[in-house]
Amino acid sequence: MTDSMERTASQLQIDSKLLNRLEQCTNLPSPPVVAMRIIDLSNDPNVDIGKVADVISMDPALTAKIMRISNSPIYALRRKTENLHQAITLLGLNGTLTLALSFSLAASMNNNASQGFNYNAYWHRSLAAATCCRRLGMAISLRKGEELFLAGLLQDIGMLVIDKMDPEFYKTLGVDQHDHVSLAAGEQEKLGADHAAIGGWILMKWGMPEYLVDSIINSHDMQPVPEDDRHQSFVNCISLSGPLADGVNARDERHDIHIVADLIKSRLGVNDDEFDSMMESLNVDLREAEELFETDLSDYSFSDSLLDRAKEALIIKNLESLQKTQKLQATAEMLESKTQLLEEKSRRDGLTGLFNRAYLDECLEKEFAMARDRGWPIIVMFVDLDHFKKVNDTYGHQAGDLVLQRAARALIDGTREEDVVARFGGEEFIVVAPGQGTETAIIMAERLVKMFRDITHVVSGGKEITVTASLGIAVLGDGAEFKSEAEIIAAADKALYVAKESGRNRYAIYSSEMEQQSVAGASSPAA
Ligand code: GH3
Ligand code: MG
Ligand code: MG
Repeated sequence: MTDSMERTASQLQIDSKLLNRLEQCTNLPSPPVVAMRIIDLSNDPNVDIGKVADVISMDPALTAKIMRISNSPIYALRRKTENLHQAITLLGLNGTLTLALSFSLAASMNNNASQGFNYNAYWHRSLAAATCCRRLGMAISLRKGEELFLAGLLQDIGMLVIDKMDPEFYKTLGVDQHDHVSLAAGEQEKLGADHAAIGGWILMKWGMPEYLVDSIINSHDMQPVPEDDRHQSFVNCISLSGPLADGVNARDERHDIHIVADLIKSRLGVNDDEFDSMMESLNVDLREAEELFETDLSDYSFSDSLLDRAKEALIIKNLESLQKTQKLQATAEMLESKTQLLEEKSRRDGLTGLFNRAYLDECLEKEFAMARDRGWPIIVMFVDLDHFKKVNDTYGHQAGDLVLQRAARALIDGTREEDVVARFGGEEFIVVAPGQGTETAIIMAERLVKMFRDITHVVSGGKEITVTASLGIAVLGDGAEFKSEAEIIAAADKALYVAKESGRNRYAIYSSEMEQQSVAGASSPAA
């Protein structure tokens, strides 16, 4: 026995008798030439894209598969890969080599005939398990898709070795090939080693990377995952991939998907939702693998009820997250509308609902600055009810309030939407009309004076009264200059004083002459 054989024997727990039998076997499965070169490249520290492309392009079918997978949804690329160099860049050197190895070994595993061994079933399960293995890795965010696929694909290669060594073995064993656990137990009993150990041995012989050898030797290991052990997670994906593939075999009713599901959830730490959406994706993966490997994996299609459950779970999950989003949205909207309401409230006068003084100041500052900057005219109009104190005194404060409210409505009705109507204080209101000049001011003022004149207020005892208004107007532009909003307000106030002095129930437009004379520019009172 050589040194390397001794190391192998102790590592793999294959006794020397079996080892000798294996070593002497001349027809053991061997990787095709391209696969051999790929294995060499994997071990070459100076490997580069050019070398990998050279080897892969030797096999046109392999090249086509690499191109197809690089354009498949698994790699979710927006840009189409058009040549082998691009594909290798996308998949990465290691990823490409691993994939190429999967493809080329798969091709060699695919066409065999034997007495007691169903190669077709073997091949289909390997491919389904490889697909499951990759998907399990994705479910726990192990970024080793190609390696998981290759390991999943090769995990049972020991069975091929056993069949080559003893073509009668599986026939004599008399165990259903679909019953993986009994099969391994039978191998162990008859040979002293199961196909996991023997698979590890041949992969070692082929010079396959250590991770692959190790993970296949341990692929029947059902120990729970220690936290943070990526290698152990890798092995776990492989050991769970076979049972998962068996579980989704719709034709084989002996395997209960729920047992596998529970195993996956507990050993990989996957929750119910994650498991269900993984199953949805797996169904897609299987159809894709079927196409890529040009084989029939229809046995490994979910039963309708399983698929329905996965879909249902997915729909519920989506609905729940939708509801959550909607709830959050509603809360946000509610808060926003509350804030808006508060904001709006803070700018309104409680009695009349008009803008308040604070908002007027803010607004006038902006409008005045804008009008001055752009050379627009602007109207500032004081509206003051005439002898209002008398209303309060004669009919009571409440009647006074009603008059104020009615006056506010009149101001809103008598102005445009763009105008700002505010309660300045007491029975004084201000209307600001941005962009409007003297001509409009006159039209507005005449309209408003008339409106107040025409309104009848019903007070206590059903008595009807009229409360007229006096208006003082200042217009920026049309020759009148004001340095600040305070100045224009003062001018409007001066004009109001003039209107009051001229007999009330009228308007007056500010002019600089008003500073000298006490009465000027007032319109004649109506009858
Ligand atoms: P003029 O024609 O000169 O404007 O006389 P006026 O009586 O309208 O003016 P004055 O400023 O002398 O009186 C305003 C009155 O408005 C005094 C005050 O009691 C009353 N007032 C102020 N705010 C309110 C209010 O919110 N509700 C009521 N009902 N009255 C108010
Ligand atoms: Mg007043
Ligand atoms: Mg008044």
